Amino acid sequence: MSAAEQEHPPGLVVIGSGGRMGRRIVGLAPELGLAVAAEVDREGPALDAELGARAHCVVDFSVPSQLPATLAFCTTHRLPLVLGTTGLGQDGDRAIADAARIVPIVAAPNFSIGVHVLMTLVAEAAQLLDARWDVEIVEAHHRLKVDAPSGTALALADRIASARAVATNRLRHGREGQVGARARGEIGMHAVRGGSVVGEHAVSFFGIGEALTLEHRALDRDIFARGALTAASWLVARPRTPLRYGLGDVLGPG
Ligand code: NAD
Repeated sequence: MSAAEQEHPPGLVVIGSGGRMGRRIVGLAPELGLAVAAEVDREGPALDAELGARAHCVVDFSVPSQLPATLAFCTTHRLPLVLGTTGLGQDGDRAIADAARIVPIVAAPNFSIGVHVLMTLVAEAAQLLDARWDVEIVEAHHRLKVDAPSGTALALADRIASARAVATNRLRHGREGQVGARARGEIGMHAVRGGSVVGEHAVSFFGIGEALTLEHRALDRDIFARGALTAASWLVARPRTPLRYGLGDVLGPG
């Protein structure tokens, strides 16, 4: 970090600052050489021109309904965005793609390095094990999580589907009643909710006579906060081409 940056560290607008994630992002920002220009939650402060002029980057871990306002703020004031909110759906994805033509956006349903590696390993396993191996995803989160299945579980299913060239609409959410024999190619998806579980994702491949499970367990929310702040540092380190980026771009060379 340059002497000027030490004196005036880049300022973040943290949206959802009062939440479980927002509080950790605000708390850990100084550790990564970042300042917090504004803590924005439901009651404000407003995402106005004054804030737009003095901020360097926006970090949003809030709720899907906040997305349009966050994207409008970033594009109006040409501010890069780190987006961690999940449950955004296809409309959200389209809005992010539009905004990413104007400002760089790092969006990920999971900012942990371990899950980033899990994504790679799962895609590789899906290619190595042919379609006769049935895939089931089980995710677990704390009782207050509002969306299901988790954005990470959906991203894992996407990776498996593209590795095997099958459509993700073959997701099978839970099973109940006379469901019949398992259809080849479907991806089973199961969301468990309870207590204070930070986040667990297990992908199992079931063959005849053997099974392989790849699993990640988040033990502490700080892993996501550090990942998001690392993405913010990457965005402010130098001007980035407007695009939608993932955690892999941040962690990779350059
Ligand atoms: P939370 O409910 O604890 O916090 C959400 C915060 O957003 C609350 O303080 C709420 O008041 C605030 N909020 C609601 N509406 C708002 C608005 N219009 N403007 C500003 N703030 C508003 O939830 P959380 O556990 O902190 O998770 C937040 C989001 O981040 C969820 O979508 C969750 O799935 C996601 N998440 C992502 C990752 C990741 O690595 N990408 C990790 C954990 C959680």
